[in-house]
Formats: sequence, C-alpha cells, structure tokens
Amino acid sequence: MAAIWAGRTQPGAAIAVLDGAARLGTKILVAGGGRCNVTHDEVNEHAYSGSTPAAIRKVLRRFDVAQTMTFFADLGVPLKREASGKLFPTSDSAHTVLDALLTASRRAGVVLLHPRRVETVVRTQSGFMVAGPWGQMAAPHVVLATGGQALPKSGSDGHGYRLAQALGHTLTPRIFPALVPLTLPRNHFLCALSGISCDVSLTVKAAGGKSLAACQGALLCTHFGLSGPAVLDISRHFLASQYEQGAEVKLLVNWLPAMEGAEVDAGLAGLGTGTPLRWLRDRLPDRLARALCQAAGVDPAQPGHRLSRASRRALCQYLTSLPLPISGQRGWSAAEVTAGGIPLSELDLATMQSRRCAGLYLCGELCDVDGRIGGYNFQWAWASGYVAGVSAVRG
Ligand SMILES: Cc1cc2nc3c(=O)[nH]c(=O)nc-3n(C[C@H](O)[C@H](O)[C@H](O)COP(=O)(O)OP(=O)(O)OC[C@H]3O[C@@H](n4cnc5c(N)ncnc54)[C@H](O)[C@@H]3O)c2cc1C
Repeated sequence: MAAIWAGRTQPGAAIAVLDGAARLGTKILVAGGGRCNVTHDEVNEHAYSGSTPAAIRKVLRRFDVAQTMTFFADLGVPLKREASGKLFPTSDSAHTVLDALLTASRRAGVVLLHPRRVETVVRTQSGFMVAGPWGQMAAPHVVLATGGQALPKSGSDGHGYRLAQALGHTLTPRIFPALVPLTLPRNHFLCALSGISCDVSLTVKAAGGKSLAACQGALLCTHFGLSGPAVLDISRHFLASQYEQGAEVKLLVNWLPAMEGAEVDAGLAGLGTGTPLRWLRDRLPDRLARALCQAAGVDPAQPGHRLSRASRRALCQYLTSLPLPISGQRGWSAAEVTAGGIPLSELDLATMQSRRCAGLYLCGELCDVDGRIGGYNFQWAWASGYVAGVSAVRG
C-alpha cells in the first residue's frame, strides 16, 4: 500500500519493495478463511487498542473505508458488506485482493524484490543503507512496513522491531500475541466439548470485581481450551490486564447473554416438574447444557422442584458468570495480530515519519495499534501505509 501510493504520488520515482518472504502477501491469503476480510463498514478508533484513540483517529481518517472501497473497486476488486458489517471481495477470494495489489504496484512503477530479507538499515549522510544476505541498497527514504510478530512463518517475525530500535525507536513495555486462542487446563470440562460453539459474553474482571473489558460473540470450545471471535477479541484485554494486575485478574463467561441473571434464576426456580436440561436445551447446545449442570453438581434430569436453593444458585452462577481458569495463550503462530510495538508518539502522524530518525517512515502492524476482529487490522494497514507512502516520496 505504501509503495503503490508512493509511486502514484510521484510517477517516475525509483521505488523498491524488499520482502524477505518467498511468497508475498501470505497474511492476505490466509485472512478471513481465504476470503480476506479487507475492512469493516464502521471503522473508528474505538475498535483499536494500543496507542491513544486520538492518535489512531488521526491516521484512520486520512484513508477511510469509503476510500478503501473505491481503491479496491478501481483495481477490479469490488467489496461487499456482510450482515456483520465485515467487507469482503465479491469474488470471495483473497487471491483477487493480493493480485490486485501486486498489479497496482507494478503499474505504479514499483519494483518488487523477494525473497530479500533486510537484516540492517543504517543511517548514512545521504539517507540509508539497507542490507541483507543479498547485498545492499542505498535509499534517501525508507518505509518500514515489516508487520509485527504474528504468524512468523509469513515473514513477519519481529525483526522489524530490531530495525526500528537500531534507528532510535523504543518499543512498548510489552509486545504480546492478540486475537489469540486461550488455553485451559487439560482436564477442564470444556476441553471435552471440542467443536461446540455458542454466543456468549466474556468479561475481564479485576481482583476487586471491577469490569475491565467485555466482548460478546461466538465462543468455540476446542481440545486445548477456547477460541472463536469473542475469545479472540477479549484475549488482548485479558492478557494485558494480567500483565498489569497479575494472576488475580479473572475471565468470566456468561452462557446466556440475552437474559438477566435474575431471569435465569427465576426460570430455574419455576421449572416445577420440568428438568434443568430441558430448559437449557432451548437455549444451549445439549452437550454443553449437560456439562454445565454436571460441573455445577446438578443432576440435569432431576425435576426442578427437587433442586435445592443452593444447587439452583450454583447452576445459575455456572450459567451466567463462570470463571475460566485460563492457563495461557496459543502463541505467535496462532495469533492474528500483535499487541504493542512502536509507540505512535514517536511518529509525526501527518506523515508517519519518525520523530527519531528523519527520512524513516513506519506503518502497519509494526506500530502500537491492534484492532478487533472484523477487518480493522487491514484498515489500519491501508490507512497508515497510504500516509507513509505519499509522504515518504515527497520527502
Ligand atoms: C491468520 C490471520 C488472519 C487474519 N485475518 C485478518 C482479516 O481477515 N482482516 C484483517 O483486517 N486482518 C486480519 N489479520 C491481520 C492482518 O493480516 C495484519 O494486521 C496485516 O497484514 C498487517 O499488515 P502489515 O503490512 O503491517 O504486515 P504484514 O502483513 O505482516 O506484512 C509484513 C511484510 O514484511 C515482510 N518482512 C518482515 N520482516 C522483514 C525483513 N526483515 N526483511 C524483509 N521483509 C520483511 C514480511 O515478509 C511481510 O511480507 C489476520 C492475520 C492472521 C495471522
């Protein structure tokens, strides 16, 4: 994106993209299950974490969703909106997105060189010397668009942070996987429900009970623990809160997010000869309903009027605020994005030029910005890449 806009802004300028990957655009190809969720209908700074909302907004508004849609439509890749607000190519194929970007690069006069991993970028009197096992190249301006650390086999293995640090940048105190599945102890009853998915709400709570973050959406039980959009979305908030406040931070799940706690209690209290399992089956997958009853110490087939008050309370708690004893996360290979990175305070956001090193520009996931699931991370990449590209070529 940066190279395309640099080339379009100053036709004839010498622009080279050096990419260490043997195969370009891996993340575009794997995104959205191979369909590439290019952006979202409603993008604003509140869908992101990391740097301040005001800083993120400044960049996002320079290349908004409408511009992204026009940009791709002009490249022959019209986007369609799905009910969730996510925008995909009408082709339903990520290949069309990648091919369009590669064609646009070539048309803009960009030379794509790969595999050319960059090991060092050194400031010189006239600009920079960029070097790797392939040799070296002098450039008056450099855009670092190396991504973060998620999915390292794609080529984004975190080396970009070292390049930025060597040119005077700092990193946020923590860089950790975000949009990442979470693990439970192996013997946790939810691990036996692999494949079951349902809509839940998840809340991160501090030791004192204060709610720190909440997400709603689908949760997927897996053999290792938890995945699905709601889990991925809450993961960065849970992990960040744990890093900041320690292991006392809790993740709670409400399996019946459409009902108030009192409504659930009243529903169970009014069962009469009906069983908890029958009541729950209307609301949850059968196996999950049984497992929650058993974990709460309640016979799922017992008539409701025989349930003691304590049992009913226990079941109600399991249904509406069950603590999940998260044991870890699945790591960089399973993460969709990186939390943390280069603080936006170290960049001039009107140009994405480094305040630490003149002539250096930074964009994309390398920066301390990570978005929710739904196309937000690509929109950040398009917007920040656009700003870096048009600015770098103007110098
Ligand atoms: C499985 C998965 C699914 C995703 N799905 C979506 C989605 O549907 N929607 C969405 O919005 N976001 C999605 N994301 C996130 C999104 O892909 C990234 O946020 C986005 O690609 C970041 O763009 P970037 O250009 O900053 O970095 P990247 O896309 O990571 O690109 C960085 C490039 O720099 C190259 N590079 C790195 N270091 C060097 C070096 N030292 N020398 C030379 N080259 C180097 C890499 O090879 C790579 O090609 C997904 C991510 C993953 C992992």
